[in-house]
Amino acid sequence: MKIRYFDHAATTPVDEKVLKAMLPYFTCEYGNASSLYTIGRQSKKAIDEARKKVASAIGARQHEIYFTSCGSESDNLAIKGVAYSYKEKGKHIITSKIEHPAVLNSCKTLERQGFEVTYLDVDEKGFVSIEQLINSIKSTTILISIMFANNEIGTIQPIEKIGNIAKQKGILFHTDSVQAIGNVKIDVNRLHIDLLSMSAHKFYGPKGVGALYVKEGVEFEKIQDGGHQERDKRAGTENVAEIVGLGEAIAEIYQNYEKYNRKLIELRDYYISEVQKRIPNTKLNGDTKERLPGNANISFPKINAQELLLELDEKGICASAGSACSSGEASPSHVLTAIGLSPDIARGSLRVTFGKDNTKEDVDYLINSLEEIIQQN
Ligand SMILES: *Cc1c(COP(=O)(O)O)cnc(C)c1O
Repeated sequence: MKIRYFDHAATTPVDEKVLKAMLPYFTCEYGNASSLYTIGRQSKKAIDEARKKVASAIGARQHEIYFTSCGSESDNLAIKGVAYSYKEKGKHIITSKIEHPAVLNSCKTLERQGFEVTYLDVDEKGFVSIEQLINSIKSTTILISIMFANNEIGTIQPIEKIGNIAKQKGILFHTDSVQAIGNVKIDVNRLHIDLLSMSAHKFYGPKGVGALYVKEGVEFEKIQDGGHQERDKRAGTENVAEIVGLGEAIAEIYQNYEKYNRKLIELRDYYISEVQKRIPNTKLNGDTKERLPGNANISFPKINAQELLLELDEKGICASAGSACSSGEASPSHVLTAIGLSPDIARGSLRVTFGKDNTKEDVDYLINSLEEIIQQN
């Protein structure tokens, strides 16, 4: 059966060009980047090239990019790293209720270690309130961590405003941009971002490699001891092939930014309008304008999305209920709860996330399948 994949927020397939760029570093170019002989130096050069590509994609400088093993590690390193470095200055952190577990659970760990965390509410569209943010700031606040775009409902936060406030108050600003990279144009200086997390497998790169941008002058403690790789901030022999993959993937996606963006928005808006036309009493979650181009999260009445997923799977369709990390849990997702959905409506929410290789024919198949399954219920 043909697989129709609509779960690009969970992960994406590796782009052909990206894979091709990576392959030599598994076989002939296997040198350790710390070794001084030729094949070692070639690995180091490949890492430097990738670092340049990542930096240039977000308006950063090369020495501000640190490679990690995933988006989750980047979030941990940013939040815990800053907290441990600036704890003499203060122990208060501000984040939101709809962050990814990598951020939320890093904050929970810090709370157990004596830090204080404010979890901002969001409105029914998923936006944090700027007013509540300002009112939460104390003299001890050292870090604001707000995600760029939400992985479940696609809401894009007013990042420039938040960055401005952080800058004015002399507070560091971290943003989990794992979902935004490739989908939104990002300039870390214009947006006043001090730390930014990304993960290659969300933009057609390989799984198991991420990056963290840290603005020059911002301190952060390493959280893994070992060798002096990544300017002594992230120990462990560099994963050369995957780092090359991340660099290639970010360059490739931003080279095609306009084309992909237009396509995703077209598929998304077509899907949303057809579903609303053909299936009664649906509810679109998230905002209509400030929304990731490929994200459609819709609640279907009297539907259990977990069961719906199984029926879609039988038709070769991959989609998601809540986020990949929380699906399988019985309780509705923390994001859908935070935007005020009742547990019943939340349980009927289906997240569809489009990708660059989806076609209109795929989307028609999805809509027809949904209509058929829901009519039978
Ligand atoms: C996927 C995701 C992560 C985690 O990235 P991994 O590389 O899978 O660890 C973090 N934050 C957001 C918003 C994500 O969507």
